[in-house]
Amino acid sequence: MKKIAILGATGSIGNSTIDVIRKNPDYFDPALFSAHANIESLVKLGKEYPKARLALTGKAKHVPVDIRWTGREGLLRALEECARSGVDIAVNGIAGADGLEPSLAALDAGMNLALANKETIVMAGEIVSMKAREKNACIIPVDSEHSAIFQLLRAHGTENLASIILTASGGPFRTLPLEQLARVKPHDALAHPTWNMGVKISIDSASMANKGLEVIEAVKLFDVPPSKVKVVVHPQSIVHSMICFLDGSVYAQLSKPDMRHPIQDALFFPGKGTVSFDTLDFTSLTIGFEAPDEKRFPLLPLAYYAAKAGSLYPVAYNAANEEAVSLFLEEKIGFLDIARIVEIVLQQDWTGIVTLDAVWEADKKARACVYRC
Ligand code: NDP
Ligand code: MG
Repeated sequence: MKKIAILGATGSIGNSTIDVIRKNPDYFDPALFSAHANIESLVKLGKEYPKARLALTGKAKHVPVDIRWTGREGLLRALEECARSGVDIAVNGIAGADGLEPSLAALDAGMNLALANKETIVMAGEIVSMKAREKNACIIPVDSEHSAIFQLLRAHGTENLASIILTASGGPFRTLPLEQLARVKPHDALAHPTWNMGVKISIDSASMANKGLEVIEAVKLFDVPPSKVKVVVHPQSIVHSMICFLDGSVYAQLSKPDMRHPIQDALFFPGKGTVSFDTLDFTSLTIGFEAPDEKRFPLLPLAYYAAKAGSLYPVAYNAANEEAVSLFLEEKIGFLDIARIVEIVLQQDWTGIVTLDAVWEADKKARACVYRC
């Protein structure tokens, strides 16, 4: 029985994780649930799993007695206590840059980290990987593309690896002309054709910033140069990613677009679970691939720019995008302004050694820059 801490338990990744746990009651035992604002769902989870700790990271006027851990600090202390009571793995499904600190805390406490929060790797992959090595803990990617690559590299090795191909759904605006992209509203951007996800990542999928973040994530997680990470649009989201070898062989990982697959893989790691969700029916499957359009989706080439520049450029890319997405959601800027702003922010100097203090300083500086664009 593995004991599991679920961070961001009330979100899209959190819900899928709890569903995997419900389907595998003999294997997984939730030890901690965290939420930021959704007290009602958190308390409900506490009723379903009375032994699990409950942590609320956001501010609230009235916190029910069942929630013993509050604030950012409260979550970090709950994680420490989890580690002392033998919790094996933390699933990080927190949205945004605030996921970094809990990722480090989970690793510091010696837990394996099932990581959906891509910002952790984009912002501080170097620091987080070092922490995992120091603590003899594993980082198991949950992002579907990185989960696919992780599994493929474990099966086929890294010797003679030529490239990694990340697949991208292309999002709801895959075929929309540039002039119309300028006029899209948040509710258009939130209507993703294949995945059902949280608000921020849905906007990022529509702008392809999500794929940009994933390029940086792949570079840092798998220690490959940006030139070896390619992106191909695959609207059906069935092939989750591919790896290519120098002899021309390509290996792919396929499943239905359902985050419960990569989550289940991460929870059972290094073992394998048995399928409890829909599987593919090849007799009714038509899939296709096309090149991404960098003119309509400039956040993708901008991510390559940040990945190649390294240093604190990925931090600036992530922070500027996160802030610009908030402004777009508030309808204060247009959809195409997100990329325009990120480009201006990246024109500044983001060189520097990647320490935790430097990461947070660059994050803060990049967010402030957004309001001067
Ligand atoms: P959601 O917005 O659906 O959920 C976010 C979760 O994090 C909620 O539980 C929320 O609590 C909590 N949260 C929000 N803000 C904070 C904060 N400042 N501090 C601590 N907790 C916070 O997001 P997703 O589940 O879609 O995404 C989570 C992460 O996983 C992101 O990094 C995303 O990029 C990544 N990811 C998601 C995929 C998906 O399919 N959804 C696929 C691949 C990666 P509350 O509900 O109380 O507000
Ligand atoms: Mg993904």
